[in-house]
Amino acid sequence: MSDVINVSEIFGEDVFNDTVMKQRLPKKIYDDLKKTISEGTELNAATAEVVANAMKDWAVEKGATHYTHWFQPMTGVTAEKHDSFITAPTEDGKTIMEFSGKELIKGEPDASSFPSGGLRATFEARGYTAWDCTSPAFLKHDAAGTILCIPTAFCSYTGEALDKKTPLLRSMQALDTQALRVLRALGNTTSKKVTPSVGSEQEYFLISRENFLKRKDLVYTGRTLFGAMPSKGQEMEDHYFGSIPESVGGFMKDLNERLWKLGIPAKTQHNEVAPAQHELAPIYSEANLASDQNQLVMESMKKVACKHGLTCLLHEKPFNGVNGSGKHNNWSITTDDGINLLNPGKNPHENVQFQLVLSCILKAVDEHADLLRLSAADVGNDHRLGKQEAPPAIISIFLGEQLQDVVDQLLKTGEARSSLKGDKLVTGVSTLPQFSKDATDRNRTSPFAFTGNKFEFRMVGSSDSIATCNTVLNTIVAEAFCEAADIMEKADDPVAAAKEVTLENMQKHQRIIFNGNGYSDEWVEEAARRGLPNLPSMVDAIPALTTDTAVGLFSKFGVYDEAELKAKAEIRYETYAKTINIEAKTMLNMAGKRYIPSVVEYVGKLAESLTSVTTACPEADVSVQKELLLESSALLSEAKVAMAALEDVTNKAAEVEDVEKAARMYHDEVMPAMDALRAPIDTLEFIVDKSMWPYPSYGDMIFQVK
Ligand code: ADP
Ligand code: MG
Repeated sequence: MSDVINVSEIFGEDVFNDTVMKQRLPKKIYDDLKKTISEGTELNAATAEVVANAMKDWAVEKGATHYTHWFQPMTGVTAEKHDSFITAPTEDGKTIMEFSGKELIKGEPDASSFPSGGLRATFEARGYTAWDCTSPAFLKHDAAGTILCIPTAFCSYTGEALDKKTPLLRSMQALDTQALRVLRALGNTTSKKVTPSVGSEQEYFLISRENFLKRKDLVYTGRTLFGAMPSKGQEMEDHYFGSIPESVGGFMKDLNERLWKLGIPAKTQHNEVAPAQHELAPIYSEANLASDQNQLVMESMKKVACKHGLTCLLHEKPFNGVNGSGKHNNWSITTDDGINLLNPGKNPHENVQFQLVLSCILKAVDEHADLLRLSAADVGNDHRLGKQEAPPAIISIFLGEQLQDVVDQLLKTGEARSSLKGDKLVTGVSTLPQFSKDATDRNRTSPFAFTGNKFEFRMVGSSDSIATCNTVLNTIVAEAFCEAADIMEKADDPVAAAKEVTLENMQKHQRIIFNGNGYSDEWVEEAARRGLPNLPSMVDAIPALTTDTAVGLFSKFGVYDEAELKAKAEIRYETYAKTINIEAKTMLNMAGKRYIPSVVEYVGKLAESLTSVTTACPEADVSVQKELLLESSALLSEAKVAMAALEDVTNKAAEVEDVEKAARMYHDEVMPAMDALRAPIDTLEFIVDKSMWPYPSYGDMIFQVK
């Protein structure tokens, strides 16, 4: 068997992509479908029928037995229900494989068990999935066989979005319409469509499956709820970009192969900062496809890890004391004829269009900082944001020297006359190649950083869907474009009007720019002086969804209506409360059933040893045993008291009916009670004999992947 992967041969082999469609569809049908995909025209039933049949033939030839409408309910993960292609047996007892146009374009899963935030009572369970032909169908090969997956949007009977894809698609339409208005006003007559491009870098941990299964906290909650940091953490910074361990290398190789077959351009892989932490980045694509593909990346990571005796942890903070995981959402705006609206060119000071776009982004992010913050809120991410390892929970924009200089010139004189250039890199070694540096260095501490020809939103949690942050980004920028276009379209000289709008946006919203160290305490104070919102936890961020400003914004562009926003807020409160409840109960279980009994046993052994030594030799020095006995007994009783307190407050929180109040209580009271239980147990981990400690340690888990 050969180990060689021929990438260009396998790339996209499991995707019903353009090449396959061209081969298998009659020309007229292919043209109809392409028109729907690229121009958003409606697809007629006859075309769908032919496409469905071709898709089925292709899938069955590749071994598929089932199809599924693949969607992303508001749980944040993907959902699927498999239906086989078989039809009722014919008279001779055989069956044929069939798939109709209707089955392709519409599905009707029972929606009652997916979160809807009160959008739909359980007795009105009807929900529909509708084919999203802008994201290609693909095959999944799993233990369950080969399944044809059809990306779909998921809506209620009354058309409300019950998923993350529908709002994203709506926001892309809004951005398209408003960006085109701006471009037309600036004299562009050629571009027909504008889309957001997204590349998401995905961080993750890999640990041995054996250790994973032994840790109840990881199994039930995805993160460790107890565990002391070993003598070595990440302080040596020797893991970042370090040589990749063999078992991880095997995983990465298989993962890449699976992703390439799915047409996902996995490009970069490396070790991350924390031990056992890694990263994967694909080449960017249209936002909707990138969002679907990121879901597939996460799912594939889990499946492939399993095959290698490993477990992939996507939680934002699996281990205290080392960095957690995030997702960098690289975002730019591209026209169908290849213009990147975020490309400043060599001379940003002359680029009126770029300056206008930049100023609109400043305005959008400043006016809706709370929404952007909310878009990266998930329960796990609360452990990262503002903890010196990820951006703070305060939104700001990093521009870098070159753009800052242009903005400064504009603000000072109303005009920009020059652009800073990158110098040559001086290494002092004559044999090394000479090249120009970028005009701007990087800033790793900014939540929203300009990186050459795109913005990088760095707040998103590793397990989260990128659909939400892109929905927010697209919509807030669409609004700023819309306001600019309103003015430019009415002006006699639209270019002059564009310059005025640019200046006004920059003047009004310059407070959102921050090029310094986002991890510092001074920034927190400075941001407060500037009046920028600081929303440290998810619970603090949720109200942003339902402010008058948010309702006005999203309904104006048809992205969410008020009912959908209220539902989203409710689901988020509920998710928060449920997650912390599960964590608290898991802690109580682990402490009550394993940690405390182990410590009791250890203390008993110490006492026995103390008695037997004193009996055998009354003059022996037993001060060490005594000290240990006293210390562990004190910690043991501290743990027992903390357990009782945690149990009490968890029970109380579980009884609160109002979801917002419940979430608050879990945040304000249950979380501190969890910390109070963790502290004595983690201290005991250093004292108690390793052979008696009931769970694998941090050292076992994150330093043993070889
Ligand atoms: P960096 O080194 O700044 O993190 P990379 O080149 O490694 O940048 O890219 C990080 C991610 O950003 C990748 O997924 C890449 O495809 C994506 N990316 C690059 N250019 C763009 C762009 N114009 N728009 C959106 N994403 C982009
Ligand atoms: Mg990056």
